[in-house]
Amino acid sequence: MDKLDSLNRNLLVFPPLDSLNKIDPKVAKRKLRDSIYQELNKKDKHIYLTFDDGPLIGSSAIDSIATAKNIRINAFLVGKHAQMSKRLKRDFEKYANNPLVECYNHSYTHAGNRFHVFYSNPDLALDDFDKCEESLALKHKIVRMPGRNIWIFDDVRRVDLTSGSQTADLLAANGYSIYGWDVEWKIHGLSGKPVQSVNEVYTRIKNMLGNKSTLKANNVVLLMHDDMFQNKKGQQLLGNLIDSLKQHKDYKFEFISSYPHKY
Ligand SMILES: [Zn+2]
Repeated sequence: MDKLDSLNRNLLVFPPLDSLNKIDPKVAKRKLRDSIYQELNKKDKHIYLTFDDGPLIGSSAIDSIATAKNIRINAFLVGKHAQMSKRLKRDFEKYANNPLVECYNHSYTHAGNRFHVFYSNPDLALDDFDKCEESLALKHKIVRMPGRNIWIFDDVRRVDLTSGSQTADLLAANGYSIYGWDVEWKIHGLSGKPVQSVNEVYTRIKNMLGNKSTLKANNVVLLMHDDMFQNKKGQQLLGNLIDSLKQHKDYKFEFISSYPHKY
């Protein structure tokens, strides 16, 4: 996979055609890409189902589905939500006590949903993430930033909107790793009506793995939100998606703490 990264970043040198080299550099490059793809296709694919904004109505159903399907899932939690009611506190504890669920940091206040203002003060934003970590006693320094698809981990730094980049760098300097997503699935929470059908999102995941268009080849991060699954219909769709993915014996459901799987 690192070789594919190097190839994509044009870091590999293919000698030009001359009296010694008879292989067109374009052909050499394509052949190398084909052989890397063939190797990747033989390996396991790693699926990260991530659920944002919990605990919310919907979280306990997600927790039960993970257990029933026996798959690992990832919860990016909003600290404040766990304090909103006894029920949500209990739902958070259900997540925290489920070995198939890893709990991560999605800030304490969810930026009050005023993202630009929130990210204009990186120090206050950092405090907000620290408060979430403390209030939920989170074990991992893993963050998803509200309203931003930003990735900072290992040697990767990918920023979608500059508002948020300073906060992201400050979080990283304070030991947090930040993860975005490759694919988002949307369902209307109250009605359970999908914006994208199960088949659409399943096909998109399969195609992105096939054409290596995820951030890291053979690893795909799917974003969902807990409140999408408050309705039985939505819960049914989540079960259906998991069943579709499970048909592939080489698809493995993973924790973000192990992202990305390399070979
Ligand atoms: Zn969110």
